[in-house]
Order: sequence, then structure tokens, then C-alpha cells
Amino acid sequence: MKPPSVTPEPPRPRPFRVAIIGGGLAGLSLVLSLQKFCSDRDALSIDLYDAAATFTEVGAGITIWPRTVALLRELGIADGLHNLSVDEVAFRMRKGDQPEGYNFYDVRFPDGPPHRLLRADLQKRLLSRLRDGPGIHLARSLVGMQQNHDKVIDPVTLTFADGSTATCDLVVGADGVHSTVRRLAIEEECRRMTTKGVTYDTDLRELAASARAEWSGRFAYRGMANASALPSGHPSLHVPMRYVGADRQVITYPLSSKPAINVLTMVRAGGAPPNAQATQAPREEVVAAFAGWEPSVCQLLHAMNEGAATLPRWALLAVRPPRSYIFDRAVLVGDAAHAMLPYLGVGAGVAIDDGFALGRLLGAWVIGTRSHAKVEATLHAYEDLRGPLTREMHARSLASAEGLELGGAFDELRGKELGEQAPHLIELAKVLGETTREGNIWAGERCAESNMTSTSH
Ligand SMILES: Cc1cc2nc3c(=O)[nH]c(=O)nc-3n(C[C@H](O)[C@H](O)[C@H](O)COP(=O)(O)OP(=O)(O)OC[C@H]3O[C@@H](n4cnc5c(N)ncnc54)[C@H](O)[C@@H]3O)c2cc1C
Repeated sequence: MKPPSVTPEPPRPRPFRVAIIGGGLAGLSLVLSLQKFCSDRDALSIDLYDAAATFTEVGAGITIWPRTVALLRELGIADGLHNLSVDEVAFRMRKGDQPEGYNFYDVRFPDGPPHRLLRADLQKRLLSRLRDGPGIHLARSLVGMQQNHDKVIDPVTLTFADGSTATCDLVVGADGVHSTVRRLAIEEECRRMTTKGVTYDTDLRELAASARAEWSGRFAYRGMANASALPSGHPSLHVPMRYVGADRQVITYPLSSKPAINVLTMVRAGGAPPNAQATQAPREEVVAAFAGWEPSVCQLLHAMNEGAATLPRWALLAVRPPRSYIFDRAVLVGDAAHAMLPYLGVGAGVAIDDGFALGRLLGAWVIGTRSHAKVEATLHAYEDLRGPLTREMHARSLASAEGLELGGAFDELRGKELGEQAPHLIELAKVLGETTREGNIWAGERCAESNMTSTSH
């Protein structure tokens, strides 16, 4: 008997293959967002590569704005999120570079104080939500990337330091301030422009300048001060403080989870770029940087990290955001795209939202048309959504740094003692307070903006 004819099943469409380089806040939020917005698990394959051998949860306290918290809620990781803020005042601004400091402005926000978290807690939450879906590849440091512009399927080949290779349809550079994806993509783009005969051109020079991170001339020293090591009337014990002075500032906030004060000091030091971005510096270095500041600042510096001989020091680097974060089938998110100075306290929120926004757009595209040739339109939608905003945030972070260091319009406050004897200086200091507040409100409302539009998609 003739067997019944079986209509062969049409071949399953091949999944769209995304390789994410970097498992920091941006990379992890991208994975969670892709998982959330792409319900067809067979349509998408995700591989996450990180240079680190383990996901170590690093970092001290960070500030997170209400919009970022709303976004974390959408990703399902906000439950029980513990706000370490203890006071309605977001921070009290005080001129600290004088024998006795002077409080000049209390910053309050309409939505209450921002969330203050331990970065490790945030990263742990993102990691805990990773489902089985993505292939996680640790100890895989990207060293090479090639794009075959004639191919629609699997056009990107990645090479790792251990000699292994991988291919994908789209590579996402979530690899932080020293992004290898950014550097390699820009170098290739510059070569292409040069081949076309462009040799000395503003666009070419601007693009080349975005390839590598630049030192801002500033260092940050971070740590915790044990509350019991400070005198009982110390301002930092009760209210988050922002001590400002010429070229320096100290930000402190008490943590509700333990009797400790988070301390972040920033120093505009200038000089040659340091060899390493993160290192340990002798405590005397930071103490010397604040010579002549009021006693309560010196007490904090001595109490940091229980008097250890050295303190963690970060060189503050920034990346000039390139005009576009899209390089054919390579796209940049988070610090890889636009690492900015931490004076507005939005880098983490922006990184999380970049990942969220790209995941939402790609997820919708994958379960929609999924024409490989048309992914470019989705990438450009990401660029339109995040590019102008993050570039403005980058510029405002720098402007904010200069104001808080008593530069530009606030130059007159340098080297002067703030107090009742100089009412015109108090007025100027209040303008600095108001400018800082407005800058924070602007940035806090926008750093997670794509979340606010997601419900309409
Ligand atoms: C002193 C200081 C204070 C700050 N305070 C705040 C704050 O209060 N609020 C705030 O919002 N932000 C703050 N920030 C900024 C915030 O921490 C960053 O913007 C944010 O963490 C960036 O996340 P990311 O995922 O883009 O990059 P990262 O967190 O740097 O992650 C990059 C990942 O890529 C991996 N990687 C790197 N190279 C490779 C490679 N070649 N191959 C494979 N993997 C690679 C790394 O191992 C890492 O896991 C602060 C920053 C500093 C320096």
C-alpha cells in the first residue's frame, strides 16, 4: 500500500542571534528586556560574553532616580528593593573648603529623595532574574570583531582572547567605558572613510576621538565611614551631604541598612593620565587633597574604611559619545556608548534604560516581521530614542561638574569664606544650589525615559 503523502513542514525560521559583550548593568538589563518583550523563545538566541571569570558584584552606593525604579519594576526586580535613603532632604549643600563650613542649600525633589542602593544589590537582582534562555560565557574577553557587509545572516564574527570565535546577526557593545566593541567599530569606520578618500575631515577626527575613553583629570575615592567613628553632632550622620569647594567635593549619605556613611570624594587633580583606572591610593593622598577643608570633612576622610592605609581610587573617565551608536550590525549601550562624569548620578540608570529600550524594540521586531534585512530600522529607532537624550546628559554632567567645582559662573566663590558677612556670596551659592537641583530633576526624570513610553507600545 502506498504510504499517505506527508506534507513536509516548512523549515523553522532561523532564530535571530544576538551577542551581548559585557554583563554589567546595561548588558543584564538588555537580556531581561529581550526576555520580557520577545515571547517567541525560538525566534531569538542570546549569548552574553563577559571578560570576567565570575560575575563579581562590585561597587559602593549609587543613586537611582524614581523613573529608574519604575523601570526596574517593569523588569520584575523592584520588589523589596531597599531604599537606603534616611531623610527627606536629598542632600544638604555646604561649602566645606574653609575653616568652618557653611550650609547654603537643602536640595529636595518633588518625588522625595532618590533611591540610594548598593550597586552590588542591584546587580545581584538583575543576575537573579536571568532565566535559562541566554548562553552565558564567562572569561571570554573580546579582542577582535569583523563585519561582512555583504552578508545578511551571521555577518559578524567575534574573536576572543582565548582564541575562540563566534558569529552572530547583531553584536551589542555593553562592555563599559573601555569598550572594545566601540573601539573596533570606530576603527573600521575610520578605515572605510579613509578608503573613500576622506583623510582630514572634522567628522573623521570627531569619530576617531570617540574610540578611546579620555581621562577627565579627576579622581574619585570611595568608601564607607563607620558612624561610631564620627562625633555625635557630625552633619553627615543625620542628612545626606554635598560638601563643595574649589575643584573638589565630598558626597555622603547615611545608609539605613547599617550604621555606616557612604563617602564619595571627587578631586580635580589634572596631570598625566594614570596607568590604571581603578587602583588603591595611600590615604595620605586624599587627606592632602582636602588640606584646609573644615574639620568635619577631615574626620570623614580619616574614618573611611576603618582607617585602612589605602583607599580605592577611580580615575574618572568619559567617552565622547559618537554621532551614532550604530555601526551596521554593532550597537552600543551604557558606558560603552556615552560614559559620563558621575556628577548627575545617572550613569547606572541610563545604562539600564539603554538596555531596556533596545531590548523592547528588538523584541517587538523579532516577534513581528523579523526580516533580517530590516533590522537596521529597529536599530535606528533605538538611536533616535536614546541618542539625543544621552548626548545631552553627557554634556550636562560635565557642566554640572564644573559648577560644583566652583568654576564658570560660580568662580567668585573660590577661595572666599562663605558666611553671613558676605550676603552676595550666599546669594550666588543659592543659585548653585538651585542649578544643581534643577539639573538633577531634569536628569532624574529623563534617565529612564523609554520606560515611560513603553506602555504605549
Ligand atoms: C565613582 C563613580 C560613582 C558613580 N556613581 C553613580 C551613581 O551614584 N549613580 C549612577 O547612576 N551611576 C553612577 N556611576 C556610573 C555607573 O556606575 C555606570 O555608568 C554604570 O555602571 C555603567 O554600566 P555598564 O553596564 O554600561 O558598564 P559596566 O558596569 O562597566 O559593565 C561592563 C562589563 O563589560 C565587561 N567587559 C569589558 N570589556 C570586555 C571585553 N573586551 N570582553 C568581554 N567583556 C568585557 C566587564 O567585565 C563588565 O562586566 C558612577 C561611576 C563612578 C566611576
